[in-house]
Amino acid sequence: MAGPSRLEALVALSARLGRDPLKTQAAGGNTSLKQGDALWIKASGTWLAEAETRDIFLPVALAPLRAAIAANDSRAAKATDFVVAEDNPLGLRPSVETSVHAVFSFAAVLHVHCIETVALAVRTDAAAVIADRLRSLDDVAHCHIPYLKPGLPLARAIQSAARPGTNVVTLGNHGLIVAADDVEAAGELLGRVSKALASPARAAPEADTAALAALADGSDWRLPADPLAHATATDPIRLAIALTGSLYPDHVVFLGSAVAVLPEDTRPADFTSLAAVPQMLLAVPGKGVLIHRDVLRGGDDLARALAEVTGRIAENTALRVLTTDEERELFNWDAEIYRRALAATATASPQS
Ligand SMILES: [Zn+2]
Repeated sequence: MAGPSRLEALVALSARLGRDPLKTQAAGGNTSLKQGDALWIKASGTWLAEAETRDIFLPVALAPLRAAIAANDSRAAKATDFVVAEDNPLGLRPSVETSVHAVFSFAAVLHVHCIETVALAVRTDAAAVIADRLRSLDDVAHCHIPYLKPGLPLARAIQSAARPGTNVVTLGNHGLIVAADDVEAAGELLGRVSKALASPARAAPEADTAALAALADGSDWRLPADPLAHATATDPIRLAIALTGSLYPDHVVFLGSAVAVLPEDTRPADFTSLAAVPQMLLAVPGKGVLIHRDVLRGGDDLARALAEVTGRIAENTALRVLTTDEERELFNWDAEIYRRALAATATASPQS
């Protein structure tokens, strides 16, 4: 078994990715390293940004997990049965995406909800446009997987679509995975892929936070922590895109379905969403957005992410959005409920 330094490199890279809002939001994203018989994976509900300030990694036994994935054994979904308990003193639970990491033969795997990737991965022509952008990167072997619920179904889809040597996988309506023989190479590859997929962000009119604060007064709605979130409501093109539907899973997990719009002459205190899945992000067109006070820690990160993603999509681009069934599946998924409970009870916030 190699020394601890490789894991330390993963910790440092994870913290860096976790602090970059264009790569990671809240508890999203996960990283891993295969060492000996173990797969060291981020724990469910923990934040990559906290990698250097608390233990967020735990080991799972790789061979039995891989066997379970191959057999489509439901225990592979949560992977809790494969945790190496003696090396998990905090009793952490593995990421819901652990099986996705296990199917790669590369030692280091990074999965992030990269804004540049997501802005392309929500398009109906995602596979073609991403392949085109990555063509100039000689060392990239890429495949694209249309949207599947994160977890075991996704792991199995990657396993059947990837060739030996596939080191970049883009996930429809979801994000990016890169893999390499070591942590440094994986980090470097992620940077280059993200750059190749980058699109300019559209400028947005300024928010009217005084008007928003006055509107929100006495209601269950509040201003977002990050003022960049307002662009979803001040830029009509962003708002039209956001209104087509929920674009990726963590938006639903943290903010519910897409975005609600405050009708004219209605105060937020009197507003009730009629959507099938709750809505915790409220757009006041031309003024900015409000966030429901009940959102989980991390909801603010996802509010900003929506402005970042929609700002990189051109008007009238054909998009694939999550269906209501897919939204419900995310809202009711018990692994997600666990993640949500952890987020709700967490105290110290690493947001900055
Ligand atoms: Zn993910």
